[in-house]
Amino acid sequence: MTLTDEMLVCERCGVTFLWTIEDSKADAERPDNPTHCMGCSSLLPAGGRERGLVKWYNPSRRYGFISRADGQDLFAHRTRFEGATRLQPGDLVEFGVEETDRGAAAVDVRLLSRRPKEKQP
Ligand SMILES: [Zn+2]
Repeated sequence: MTLTDEMLVCERCGVTFLWTIEDSKADAERPDNPTHCMGCSSLLPAGGRERGLVKWYNPSRRYGFISRADGQDLFAHRTRFEGATRLQPGDLVEFGVEETDRGAAAVDVRLLSRRPKEKQP
């Protein structure tokens, strides 16, 4: 692990950004230097993964569907979720895709953010 602040160049937009010791500590999941600036990294999924919105999820049957970025629906089962127990329509999730006998399915589904709350009247 580096012990100094570093100037890095974003691979996507080319902006130069400062990656501080505090940033490295705060982002314990990614100890390596990031390849994208803060703005771009919030847009991009990690390697090999996709982002999508929960279309619907049935908590009692423990499965649902995610709308992929290309518009297709992807089957998602509770046993393949990381952490998030109860997804709701509109939640932003990140996931991998696995081909199964019955078609593509989401794996390692991680909740990124809840659907924005609706305005109170
Ligand atoms: Zn960038």
